[in-house]
Amino acid sequence: MAERVYFDNNATTRPLDEVVAAMLPFLREEYANPSSVHQFGQSVHHRIEVAREQVASLLNATPREIIFTSGGTESINLAIRGMLTTRPEKRHFVTSAVEHSSVKRLADALEEEGYRVDRVGVDRDGRLDHDELADRIGEDTALVSLMWANNETGVLFDVERIAELAQQRGVPLHLDAVQAAGKLPMDVSAVRGLPVQLLSIAAHKFHGPKGVGALFVRRRTRIAPLLYGGRQERELRAGTENVAAIVGMGVACEHARTALAGGEYQQVRRLRDRLEAGLLERMSNAHVHGGGAERIINTTNIGFEGLEAEAILLLLSENGICASSGSACSSGSLEPSHVLKAMGIEPSSAHGAVRFSLSRFNTEAEVDHVVAVLPGLLERLTALSHA
Ligand code: PLP
Repeated sequence: MAERVYFDNNATTRPLDEVVAAMLPFLREEYANPSSVHQFGQSVHHRIEVAREQVASLLNATPREIIFTSGGTESINLAIRGMLTTRPEKRHFVTSAVEHSSVKRLADALEEEGYRVDRVGVDRDGRLDHDELADRIGEDTALVSLMWANNETGVLFDVERIAELAQQRGVPLHLDAVQAAGKLPMDVSAVRGLPVQLLSIAAHKFHGPKGVGALFVRRRTRIAPLLYGGRQERELRAGTENVAAIVGMGVACEHARTALAGGEYQQVRRLRDRLEAGLLERMSNAHVHGGGAERIINTTNIGFEGLEAEAILLLLSENGICASSGSACSSGSLEPSHVLKAMGIEPSSAHGAVRFSLSRFNTEAEVDHVVAVLPGLLERLTALSHA
């Protein structure tokens, strides 16, 4: 058993060796500015264009539709602000109640700026209320922004149905695909692909480097930039490119595409299911949040009734096991996650919610180890909390 069991892959993943190897030359000898006209600069520029093709290929987009950014958060902010800026007469924004903070907090800021914001609810398993979504979209709606896979529970929204609805209503749609990219097949092609105008991804969630992401902007979709400066990225993202990271992202996309085609992800699903079944079998106070919905292959969110997630995570960490919780510590009190709250999960289960997120680097031995040690650790914790 390795010293550390890393089950926190929705936070970030281990970069592939091939990704790091491809990046290194661009941190050392290939340092030219890709905007420079000399041969040295142009060879670096060419490598960015190769990466753009690799990213486009993962999404079945065209390279011109890919804008490199500094990560998921920037892609999301560019998509939402960028679209709202070009439609100043429309003052209504629709999202969901379970979004990542990069959408959630932007929605709060928009509301303060005078936008009307609707946050569509979910059911007990985290599935979007499609009737409510249909009711909320109106004449004044500038944009709908929803996530594809939930970062806390792994629950997948029915993006085909959502995109069809947005298309019928003539409202542009942005998808936060940060937790979905590289973990399930995607097709945004104009012919038979998902009719979405904007889609955000981040490389570090699928074994690429941190601090780099991409925004898919469908051909003929107009958005305004967040940053003004140089003419990089079709004038939608000014600033000298993070070349090494972009190259690394391209390689990560290539590998994700191969892994998806080769069914490697089914192995991750098997491990996740084995972990879930093992823990549920041994602990009567454990519940899977979102277990009844379609989920991304690598994630399980388990509530341990009557326990505090922070205490569980510390104990796990002492035993070399990395996991996460969705809870945020606000003003001294431990608030349960807004996602579980929106799902109507009882506080006693939400407070003890731990997210285990796996990757292809995990093994059956690691899963069995966690299943073997966790019940004992939690028994100790229960005894301590009743002492
Ligand atoms: N959206 C979702 C669903 C995420 O899980 C994350 C990261 O955790 C982000 C957006 C933000 O991505 P980044 O941290 O790369 O900016």
